[in-house]
Amino acid sequence: MPMWNPEFESMERGDLEKLQGERLSKIAAYTFNKIPMYQRKFKALGIAPDEIKGLDDLKRLPFTTKQDLRDEYPFNNFAVPLEEVIRLHASSGTTGKPVVGGYTQNDLKLWAEVMARTVTSCGVTDKDVAHNAYGYGLFTGGLGFHLGFQTVGATVVPVSGGMTRRQIMLLEDFGATVMTATPSYSLVLAEEAAELGIDFKSRMKVRVGIFGAEPWTEEMRQEIQARLGIEAYDIYGLTEIIGPGVSVECEHHNGLHINEDHFLAEIIDPNTGEQLPYGEEGELVFTTLTKEAMPILRYRTRDLTVLHAEKCACGRTMVRMEKIRGRSDDMLIVRGVNVFPSLIEKTLLSVEGLEPQYQIIVDRTQEQLDKLEIWVEANQRFFEPIDTGALENLRAATEAHLNDALGIRAEVKLTGPHSIERSIGKAKRIVDKRDLYKG
Ligand code: ADP
Ligand code: ZN
Repeated sequence: MPMWNPEFESMERGDLEKLQGERLSKIAAYTFNKIPMYQRKFKALGIAPDEIKGLDDLKRLPFTTKQDLRDEYPFNNFAVPLEEVIRLHASSGTTGKPVVGGYTQNDLKLWAEVMARTVTSCGVTDKDVAHNAYGYGLFTGGLGFHLGFQTVGATVVPVSGGMTRRQIMLLEDFGATVMTATPSYSLVLAEEAAELGIDFKSRMKVRVGIFGAEPWTEEMRQEIQARLGIEAYDIYGLTEIIGPGVSVECEHHNGLHINEDHFLAEIIDPNTGEQLPYGEEGELVFTTLTKEAMPILRYRTRDLTVLHAEKCACGRTMVRMEKIRGRSDDMLIVRGVNVFPSLIEKTLLSVEGLEPQYQIIVDRTQEQLDKLEIWVEANQRFFEPIDTGALENLRAATEAHLNDALGIRAEVKLTGPHSIERSIGKAKRIVDKRDLYKG
């Protein structure tokens, strides 16, 4: 499959590293000169920007955390005056102030470039009709994809999230060949079509889905591909760095290629901050190499993954990150045991008779013990008419699988079709009621 910008996407690694090194020393000086927060951070570490000469010096640079950005809310970490900022976005910020993203003219050009690479990597061309069901607005998903589709000349349908029934009509009538949404919303669309008596696979022309913005497992990909009859690509990004366009899969689906000429990636040990070699799992950290309005040094994403640097069969030399295993803050500690929501998802999807709709509830019993409950929908066929015997067998089997996989006891509650809340954006899968008892 073609690349949007082969000169960079398939650059020899030696040349790429040289380019990254040059850009790194420039951006270090730029952040120091323009942003008081970085001046303070450099001083605290006792380093001067001209000591940053190349990639080897990356580990000497200060980290940036979400809290650092919140402290500078809304614009104190911008490197340019507001006249030069032509767009603002923000993360959902469910807790406290959101993280703001600012873009200059050149930043939007950069975003268009990396998003054009992204959609091209998923096989999108000017012949495609792209149904873009990511939310338009402050969230970066909708407008980020819009820019990418527009740049490659695809026909973009800026439908945004919501009004699901109408989306089904438009998908069919406009003959969309590509769709984008959160993976959870793609299932809502499939469900709605089924309810309208429309077989998504045969009636829709959709060939490719580009899904991201929330964690989803390989098993969820298989489920989505089977239900929609499409090829599903994983895309990753975050407001702090640019939005979508940080990394995406190629047709080999063996990890997400990072646009490393612009976003320098490292993996660190989340506890010590030490850099880890390729192949080891840890926290993903990004340094923007070319951004103007909001350059960021060593941003700690809290997302856990592994990087691989071997050249890919697609010809791209850009490192690949494995599918995100979860945010480190999403990892649940239940009775002292680490529980990854992704492992729960993977296990549930391996059980025949369950639907890909679930919620994880952690609570505390009267005896002050943690309690893990998993609510998951059972297939419709168990309810017409209701077959309590079969449901009980399914429940017991699911519990047994989960206990094997997690190493701790989880209580399974089977629920009927559509009982778990659907989301048009990022799914809310974890409810930690223990938070209620904190301070
Ligand atoms: P918010 O912090 O409000 O969710 P963003 O929209 O900027 O705001 O979300 C970025 C985060 O979303 C990432 O740090 C990551 O945790 C998650 N994310 C984005 N894309 C993916 C993906 N493909 N797989 C897993 N997680 C993802
Ligand atoms: Zn590839």
